[in-house]
Amino acid sequence: MRIRQRLDTLTGHKDMAQALKIVERLSGLGFQAVLAGGCVRDGLLGVAPKDLDIATSAAPEDVENAFEQTLAVGKAFGTIVVLIDGKSFEVTTFRTDGDYADGRHPVQVQFSGIEEDAKRRDFTVNALFYDPVKQEVMDYVGGIRDVKSKILQAVGVAERRFSEDHLRMLRAVRFTAQLGFELDEKTFAAMKARASDILKVSSERIFNEIKRMLESGHLIQGLKVFKSSGLAVHVWPEINDLDIKRVEKFPLFLNWENAFTALMQVAEAADFETRLKAWKVPRDSIRKVQLQLQGFKVLSDLDSRRADRARVFGGEVFAEVLLLAQGLVRGKEGRARIQSWIAEFLSLSGKTGELPKPLVNGQDLLGHGVEPGEAMGRILKALYDAQLEGRISTKAEALAEVIKLKY
Ligand code: ATP
Ligand code: MG
Repeated sequence: MRIRQRLDTLTGHKDMAQALKIVERLSGLGFQAVLAGGCVRDGLLGVAPKDLDIATSAAPEDVENAFEQTLAVGKAFGTIVVLIDGKSFEVTTFRTDGDYADGRHPVQVQFSGIEEDAKRRDFTVNALFYDPVKQEVMDYVGGIRDVKSKILQAVGVAERRFSEDHLRMLRAVRFTAQLGFELDEKTFAAMKARASDILKVSSERIFNEIKRMLESGHLIQGLKVFKSSGLAVHVWPEINDLDIKRVEKFPLFLNWENAFTALMQVAEAADFETRLKAWKVPRDSIRKVQLQLQGFKVLSDLDSRRADRARVFGGEVFAEVLLLAQGLVRGKEGRARIQSWIAEFLSLSGKTGELPKPLVNGQDLLGHGVEPGEAMGRILKALYDAQLEGRISTKAEALAEVIKLKY
């Protein structure tokens, strides 16, 4: 089926001029070339596509020959990256996937026509093409209908598609969260039947989909499918018994680390690091989770020290910590307490929202007979604590303290 339709969010994409050049160049050489996959889906939905992918009847060598700058990164699977005006595009030859040996990768691919290419894709809404010259959407699998009724449905027989590539089950969860779609019944039944196969997929690929779920705009919807399909218990068991109603209390999350920390807290899971390491999460993200957790612990402690609270509010993840507190701190009193702590910090920071400059530095201490080294570090920290606690507020007061702290 072909329908003529202008897709404004697609044609208005910042890279459209270059994508059009690629399509026109390949067409000029007698090949078929169209936009494919997620960008067409997003165009029909009226949301901005992330990137523009191109599918073509040209073989990878023909694509390489047609453009000056190319990279052969995925050539074995038919993908050539074409660089134009400093922008890069994946140009993939229409293909069918051969046998899947291990539930992960096709052993080989065969180049094919456009219709077969639609049928090797995972979900109907991801299997659409757009001819930007004729302004036509091309649909071989019922994807237009599913976009309109907001249904995520496997292309072909769901069980077979999930047994070929187990990651598709988790992709289904991710897309329901990303698009806010309902899962088609047969697709859902197939996921339930095969859920434990997900353990054969590498932890990096599992994490990548979970991360995208956590970043999505319909996380609650995604979590429901994640749990009820039986996937969560295998790949993220700590949150399998999570009370989703409590997740609805969070106004929003700023990043996946923020959502991860919130879900683990709601589920009362203690061992964050083991989970993150199992997914091979980069160290920087582990650190961000740790900072959010530490910050939240300070804000939920009735006896927290003022200096510790100041470090949270003036610290790099303060907005994330406040969102955690909004969703996790219960009762009027708790919320009032946090309000008063915010006010306390605003006044300490002179309404800048930043930590105040220390009253004294290492240079000052040298002048007062403190040798550089461990003792100096300790004294500087103690003085800054006193300043954040409001116990000292001038340089003279700080220096007077040095004598006491030296011994
Ligand atoms: P997003 O806009 O969020 O990136 P997307 O639809 O572009 O979504 P990708 O993961 O970038 O998703 O994949 C691009 C396209 O490749 C998909 O739309 C789909 O047609 C196809 N695809 C990707 N992974 C698979 C898979 N495991 N099995 C079948 N088809 C796939
Ligand atoms: Mg994509």
